[in-house]
Amino acid sequence: MGLEDDLPHLQKVIYEKEREKKMPRKIFIFDTTLRDGEQSPGASLNSREKMEIARQLAKLNVDIIEAGFPISSHEDFESVRAIANEVKGPVICALARAVEADIKRAGEALKDTEKPMIHTFIGTSDIHIKGQLRKTREEVLKMAVLAVELAKSYCHEVEFSAMDASRTDPAYLFEVVQVAIESGATVINIPDTVGYAIPDQFSQLIRDIFINVTGVDKIRLSVHCHDDLGLATSNAISAVKAGATQIECAMNAMGERAGNTALEEVVMTIKTRGDYLDAFTDVKTQEIMNTSKLVSRLTGFVIPPNKPIVGSNAFAHSSGIHQDGVLKERTTFEIMMPQDVGLSESELILTARSGRHALRHRLSELGYEISDDQLGKIYETFLSVADKKKQVFDEDLIAIVGDELLAAPQTYSLEYMQVIGGTPTPVAVIGLRKGKEVFREVACGDGPLDAACKAIDKITGVTIELIDYSLNAATKGKDAIGTAMVRVRSNGRTVIGRGASTDIIEASAKAYINAINKILYGR
Ligand SMILES: [Zn+2]
Repeated sequence: MGLEDDLPHLQKVIYEKEREKKMPRKIFIFDTTLRDGEQSPGASLNSREKMEIARQLAKLNVDIIEAGFPISSHEDFESVRAIANEVKGPVICALARAVEADIKRAGEALKDTEKPMIHTFIGTSDIHIKGQLRKTREEVLKMAVLAVELAKSYCHEVEFSAMDASRTDPAYLFEVVQVAIESGATVINIPDTVGYAIPDQFSQLIRDIFINVTGVDKIRLSVHCHDDLGLATSNAISAVKAGATQIECAMNAMGERAGNTALEEVVMTIKTRGDYLDAFTDVKTQEIMNTSKLVSRLTGFVIPPNKPIVGSNAFAHSSGIHQDGVLKERTTFEIMMPQDVGLSESELILTARSGRHALRHRLSELGYEISDDQLGKIYETFLSVADKKKQVFDEDLIAIVGDELLAAPQTYSLEYMQVIGGTPTPVAVIGLRKGKEVFREVACGDGPLDAACKAIDKITGVTIELIDYSLNAATKGKDAIGTAMVRVRSNGRTVIGRGASTDIIEASAKAYINAINKILYGR
């Protein structure tokens, strides 16, 4: 037996020695909220919303932001380019299939950024090679080499993904990974594209890659897991235990079908069980709640109360317990500090006597950069809220700003509304302003909101279909601001409208008008 045949054995010895070292390893967090997350059915973000999320991801201090898939549309290209040019800190990554046009487009989008990365991928399972690509294994191998080499001509950091790796013949997977490394890939990603893997099996696959491929220790081995069977976090964490040093994940587990690995879950697992995993991340975990709320608000995906880490009940058992009791009991029931994820009782910060300066200062602390023009409008809303509520909390401000800042140009705005509920028939009188004119309509409906929407429809003449509607209290108490979210469809386009008010019907009507404005703006 020559040295060649003995290589896997030698690598196994090296691999085991490495694992015994127990040196804390940094796990890179590759966020794909804006790419895989945005592919969630029903989630659609415009460029401004994507930029806002990217800025927050930079604050969260993720290592890589996958900003989009430039070849997929002109809009996506521009959005990747804008993020690449403006967002500082993380590496900005663009996705490309293993074909020339995709890679060129990704390279162009990243042209002016400081830390670019191209992520190129190709299916490697026989199901994908024969079923989708209609190619042979040899052809796919060649495509992988060419893709990595071309990407490499645009930037140093190149990630190669063997799509459907968990269902790929391992011997062939090792071969593909080997050639990708030899062609210059700096990151190799092993996706469980269809959410098929089982943790034990998946970590064994990672181990086998270390043993059967040379040079894996010189690059970053990444995993990308989907949650079809609810195993995404388990699979990603067991891969880390086996030696992977990068996790691809998305905030609030956004992603295709059942979603991607939840960023908050893997990051807090590594923070909480770093002792066992010998690992850490550089994520500023105190920004997790802010990021989660932002993503939920902009995508319109409401977070279930029992969701790990970011659900409203995730730390709820401690509420109401006296501080002293919490301190004594905390470790009995809590494995994480609520403060570590950025949870704290909201503070009373502003009142009707607070000036524009105080408002702008607090907004900038909350991460909003606003123009003088916007400040004027936000201040007006703020005053009317402060009059009604007396105390204005951070959550209220976020709702007000969200309403103002992300609004499409207001073709129509609510001038007045009067709703008469109850039996026999709820009636709404609506006045909408368009430019200098105010249009007024009256309509009946099945409920007060239905009546209001019908009156709005009469004025705008836009035909829309309401797909989804939800209402949340931004703060606690009877006088809380209600934030309404509607998802509507018109001519095949889906948009999300938001509105905030201390009156829930008014918040809902505003959300509905906001959605109509977006539809009109998109035309
Ligand atoms: Zn995916």
